[in-house]
Amino acid sequence: MSGTGNMMHRPTDNRSASTNRMGAASRTSTVASSFVVADAGQCIGCKACELACFAVHSQANGIGASVGTVSVPVLPKVYVVRTGEMYVPVQCRHCENAPCAHACPVQAIRQEDGVVMIDEERCIGCTFCVLACPFGAIEVSPVYRAGHVVTQSGLTHRANRVALPRTAASKCDLCAETENGKPACVEACPNHVLRLAKGISDSPPEPRREVFFPRL
Ligand code: SF4
Ligand code: SF4
Repeated sequence: MSGTGNMMHRPTDNRSASTNRMGAASRTSTVASSFVVADAGQCIGCKACELACFAVHSQANGIGASVGTVSVPVLPKVYVVRTGEMYVPVQCRHCENAPCAHACPVQAIRQEDGVVMIDEERCIGCTFCVLACPFGAIEVSPVYRAGHVVTQSGLTHRANRVALPRTAASKCDLCAETENGKPACVEACPNHVLRLAKGISDSPPEPRREVFFPRL
């Protein structure tokens, strides 16, 4: 993952880390999560999943819903990675007790009903979550609204003083805000490589049992 963020800029809404601070226990949970998995070796690298993901997540911000109408870079939340002759779609596993949520210094990442969500407005683009994620599932990318990049107030290029874009962390949210709630990538894949793995239970784990070993 490229991680194109500007280090440690401040959020535009000026919320500080101390306001509305959540404890680590409320940012993560041990609820069994659902997540999208790929059938290894079956991906043909067509990137239909990336385009479907970008289209779904572009509906609310006015960028445009088809490849022919967009004027900004295609920034999906699933990334097709090539390793040798193989292609592998990579996306968030919605980890129980998510490392990215623990790493975030401004509590921009939280877990809701087993789905790990990023609050883009709160994110300061520091990339700590990118470093913490063991799957490489997060990108820090420029933020676009209505076809234009959002600039970060007070942040300019050193040499030419041009305003720099605001950046924020972005990753799979399981299409949580779509009407049918189904991940667009799963539906778009022509080779049926992707499927939604359902969390099996939200019941508490069985208590640990003492194990006694005989003395030798
Ligand atoms: S972004 Fe990475 S660490 Fe965070 S929940 Fe997803 S897979 Fe886990
Ligand atoms: S979400 Fe990631 S990039 Fe954004 S503030 Fe938290 S750790 Fe930093």
